[in-house]
Amino acid sequence: VAKERGKGRYEVFEPRMRNARAEKLRLEAELRAALERGEFAVHYQPIVSFATGEVVEVEALVRWERPGRGTVGPAEFLSVAEESGLIVPIGRWVLREACRQVREWQKGGSRELALAVNLSASQLHHPRLVREVEEALGLSGLEARHLKLEITEQAAVEDAREAARRLEELSALGVRIALDDFGSGYSALSYLRTFPVDTLKIDRSFIEGIGRDLQATSIVGAVIALAKSLNMCVTAEGTETEEQLAHLRSLGCDLAQGYYFSRPASPEEVERKLGLARRRRDEPAKR
Ligand code: C2E
Ligand code: MG
Ligand code: MG
Ligand code: MG
Repeated sequence: VAKERGKGRYEVFEPRMRNARAEKLRLEAELRAALERGEFAVHYQPIVSFATGEVVEVEALVRWERPGRGTVGPAEFLSVAEESGLIVPIGRWVLREACRQVREWQKGGSRELALAVNLSASQLHHPRLVREVEEALGLSGLEARHLKLEITEQAAVEDAREAARRLEELSALGVRIALDDFGSGYSALSYLRTFPVDTLKIDRSFIEGIGRDLQATSIVGAVIALAKSLNMCVTAEGTETEEQLAHLRSLGCDLAQGYYFSRPASPEEVERKLGLARRRRDEPAKR
């Protein structure tokens, strides 16, 4: 009976597997075509300084303007892009486009605006990465100190030695390194010593628990204290409420990012927001 059931299951299971595989291959082909047709776009999410209340940085987040389907987020295509290696050319385009755009905004008056760009594991381990970063900086005129590359611990642990070498080379260019989603993986604190890390981005799951969950609140406090004592900048990601912000401020957090300030938005929308920040800075009355 077991055998029969096993057989029966096998028959039901296999076509589904085949469909999933076919689906992946189709998506991969579409991604390749999308890259050629220029269907990718970069959206930007502002990152705000607690000290000044101003937008000091934007994070570039890739989007796919998929014909007939609207704007598609990375959750729907990033894993296939990574498995197929397509993340390398897609990521190269994102990096160049984002450097160009932020340099434009700097010329428009946001002189010290910094840019954060995400790198996946295969990008980090790609032999041409350092040269491509240099090229993106050279073409755009963006200064290296205005670029932050965000990597997850996951990406770094795959081959920690090679990752450390690559990050050292980037760091030598003057580019900054952020550890993204900090605390969400199997965090090994030793990475803070072996990698040239400038910024810790505290994972959204901890920020969510602030004020409601005693453990999450003390973990956030401890991470902020750790970052301070190591002379690193610390960013809270996924900040959604006033209450979270108040806690983060009192804990000494440097930067915050999240829906409370803005969702990731198209360059046009971001321009309006940066325009606002500029006007406020020039306002004489309050200062
Ligand atoms: P991430 O780097 O941790 O980026 C933050 C993600 O959290 C973004 O999702 C953003 O929309 C979302 N988020 C920001 N604030 C809030 C908030 O207050 N509440 C909630 N619920 N969510 C918030 P998104 O744009 O879907 O990106 C997901 C992930 O995809 C990113 O996570 C990053 O790991 C990856 N990714 C995005 N763009 C790129 C890219 O150009 N290259 C690579 N390699 N990965 C990318
Ligand atoms: Mg990120
Ligand atoms: Mg993150
Ligand atoms: Mg995240």
